[in-house]
Amino acid sequence: MVVVSKQLFDAVCRDAHCSLMTHPWNESCIKACPGLYKDAVIGSAKFYSIIYLAQILMRGKKMMKKEQWIKMGEYYVRSTMLGFMVTSVGPNISCLIRKMLGDQFYSSTYLFIPFAVCGLFIYLEPPSRRGLVINLFCNLLIEYYIKVLERAGYPTVTRTHQTLMFMLGSSLLFYLMRLEGDKKERTPLFWLFTPEKVKRKTTESESPCPHKGKCEKYVAKGFATYFGVGLGISLARLIIPKISTPIKAISSIRSKHFKLAMFFGSYIGIYRAVVCYLCRKQGFDSALYALPAGYAAGISFLFNPSLGLSIASLTAAFKLYSTILYEKKILPSNIPLPELLYCFCQGTLFNARIVDPDACPSYVFNLMKSCSNGRSEHVFKSFSEVIRHAI
Ligand SMILES: [Zn+2]
Ligand SMILES: [Zn+2]
Repeated sequence: MVVVSKQLFDAVCRDAHCSLMTHPWNESCIKACPGLYKDAVIGSAKFYSIIYLAQILMRGKKMMKKEQWIKMGEYYVRSTMLGFMVTSVGPNISCLIRKMLGDQFYSSTYLFIPFAVCGLFIYLEPPSRRGLVINLFCNLLIEYYIKVLERAGYPTVTRTHQTLMFMLGSSLLFYLMRLEGDKKERTPLFWLFTPEKVKRKTTESESPCPHKGKCEKYVAKGFATYFGVGLGISLARLIIPKISTPIKAISSIRSKHFKLAMFFGSYIGIYRAVVCYLCRKQGFDSALYALPAGYAAGISFLFNPSLGLSIASLTAAFKLYSTILYEKKILPSNIPLPELLYCFCQGTLFNARIVDPDACPSYVFNLMKSCSNGRSEHVFKSFSEVIRHAI
């Protein structure tokens, strides 16, 4: 599809009726609501049930306690509320602004402003999860901008760039994680692996490494565990769609399914090996060792390159760094900067889904399609028709 520029939007969509632009299933703004609300509830409940199921599986043993289930239940309801409110209130605001501006759409008031305003519903998420969601949306926004810049003729981000970004990101991230190690409240972060705390030696004879037992065993155990996790994920991806014919699935295992396993395994293995080497050489442990160790470990990215992952490593490091800036009072804590950033991300990305789908990250397609139970596709189809008629 062509890129809908501001000029094209103004020429074609300004006077289009909102039933073509935002609620193609019903001509009336009011009558379009009940159907949308119903699908927003169903869609959001479904979407988050999958996300929470994955989280429950990842938490494993922690879920043995009853309080954990109650907490997860509450979080699930809050997340579903967020999905429902954004999906149903966003289009309502779009219609409302159109009415207030004399039955006219502007490129910013069509989807960007309505969904940016709805970004405030992020407060429905509990604070511990909110940071993760904001982090995710920032990553998606950067991914989107990179695609837009590439299309505008800027140099493409090559695999070498991505690898260097990931190496740098891992290096800073592990260093900042180790710096945070002694704090009671750690910044909530979702990353492949949490490095050990810096060890303070109590007796001279003690080993300087941040682990018990032999170094070789520690490195090998890290490699093996994460290799297993990576392999498990790859095989699950392979076998689940073919669950009816497991024999066929197993016979189709190829070396590419070991790539994720090799990535996980070597990422942790290299990191641990470098930290142990430096501890033994220097005779004491230091958070600084994470810098070369993380950088070297980042090379495993070549087993499993992805632009999203390299962006995520850098933004996660930045997130930890911003915690330090807040503590030093360099960033003002009375202005909700992360939440405002979320509003901007949501407005931009949801607008891109309809107006600029070629550059929009696929996660946003999925999110909007699931939470609206398919209605976002309907809106996109109708919007495309409006554009196609004009050109
Ligand atoms: Zn309307
Ligand atoms: Zn060691």
